Parts: sequence; C-alpha cells; structure tokens
Amino acid sequence: MKIICPKCKGTAELTPDFSLVICKKCDYEISYGEYIKHVAHSESTYSDILGDYTGNTEGQTAGSLEEWD
Ligand SMILES: [Zn+2]
Repeated sequence: MKIICPKCKGTAELTPDFSLVICKKCDYEISYGEYIKHVAHSESTYSDILGDYTGNTEGQTAGSLEEWD
C-alpha cells in the first residue's frame, strides 16, 4: 500500500501486514505505529502554530489600538 513518506513527502510503501513503512526514495524505515504518531504530532503542531498565530495577532491588534488612543 502506498502512503506518504513523513520524511521526504515522497511515496513510501506500507507493508501488507501494516507493520512497517518503508521509503526507498530517501532510505527511511519506520514502524506503522510510529508513523501514525509522527503524522498525528505533525498535525497537532500545525494546529498549535495556527492557534498561537491567531491569538498573537489579536493581542497585538488590541495592544496597538490602545496605544494609538
Ligand atoms: Zn522518503
């Protein structure tokens, strides 16, 4: 089964027994369990960055408005 390599974003191969992810392109090998954790972590990190960015932007806007008054 073809899946996306977490390292080079190329095409990696998931073994039929769902035990191992192998990317021949960048010579990467990871267990499927670790792969899921890695992907889940990347997505949550991405959400955190977006959340922080929105929060910071709102804080800065409120701060500068007060300064201008
Ligand atoms: Zn790869």
